[in-house]
Amino acid sequence: MSNAVEQASPPEYNVTRLDFAGRDHFRYGGPPLIDVHAHVWVTREGPDAGLAQAEQFLAVAQEFDVERVWTMCPPEDIPPLRERFGPRLGFNGFMIKKPDEPDEAAYRLLDRFLSQDVGLIKFWASPRAEGDSLFRDVPWRANVIRRAWAAGVRVVMVHVADPDLLFQHRYTDRDRYGTKADHYAGLERMIQEFPDVSWIAAHMGGDPENPDHLEKLLGLYPNLSFDTSATKWQVREMSLHSQQMKRLICRYPDRFLFGSDLVTRPGLSRDHYFSRYWCQRTLLESDWRGQSPIEDPDWRRENASASPTLVGLNLPAEVLELVYRGNARRLLPS
Ligand SMILES: [Zn+2]
Repeated sequence: MSNAVEQASPPEYNVTRLDFAGRDHFRYGGPPLIDVHAHVWVTREGPDAGLAQAEQFLAVAQEFDVERVWTMCPPEDIPPLRERFGPRLGFNGFMIKKPDEPDEAAYRLLDRFLSQDVGLIKFWASPRAEGDSLFRDVPWRANVIRRAWAAGVRVVMVHVADPDLLFQHRYTDRDRYGTKADHYAGLERMIQEFPDVSWIAAHMGGDPENPDHLEKLLGLYPNLSFDTSATKWQVREMSLHSQQMKRLICRYPDRFLFGSDLVTRPGLSRDHYFSRYWCQRTLLESDWRGQSPIEDPDWRRENASASPTLVGLNLPAEVLELVYRGNARRLLPS
């Protein structure tokens, strides 16, 4: 490598030039992990189009002892992924509908997922989904749940809200986006309407900024769980509330599921995937403390550094075994 390249700004996945080979702080020695939230796709552009990125991603997952990954991908990607990777992948039907599309488009998409035997479905109802976010009740969502339930699907994942920082900087038009609390009103209505569904609210329920709120939701809804995905967001916020977060997860150890939110995209390097699993496991199972290697633009906006401090929660072994594996095995089909 030339000096010019070495002096160039470091890649987003390693702004601190950390040696990812250093993994002595990892403590978990239980059975293999299950990642309940990833986006493993057949990539369609570039020289690595096809299954090469999925291949690379799953090789990294294996290095972190992740045995099975639940992926959201287009329905047409399921047969080639299933054929190539077999039981290493489970499939989550990613329901998304543009606000200007008719409801029928969602039902057709659901039918395609159901014909591929997905194990759960997911609603991407971020504030960015605008007309279809949880700020608004839309009839197609409830109809999709009824249809999926009739076909045997028992688990629904949902993306609710977004980081507080985005509400401060991006979703400032309240008529258009609502407040963060408005999105939870929508979530709660939906959970109340479908109390038999097992709900997984992605990204620590969209509110790692506020462990008290997460605890309240867990207390109200015994059929609700959270996944740990969206690494930058969780590293930033769980580290800020590490003691409180640790107590919460230990009080409800059967309500949290390990997830990465990794996406297989054209041209990504192995280290991109590596950095996310490294940070997730470091955060949950170790007492490591230091600057996060992953660049965090939301953090950088208000701070002088490129990334926040990562503070490991150091969860007990029996809690980790549930979060890493046991809860996924209990909730999701095998
Ligand atoms: Zn995701």
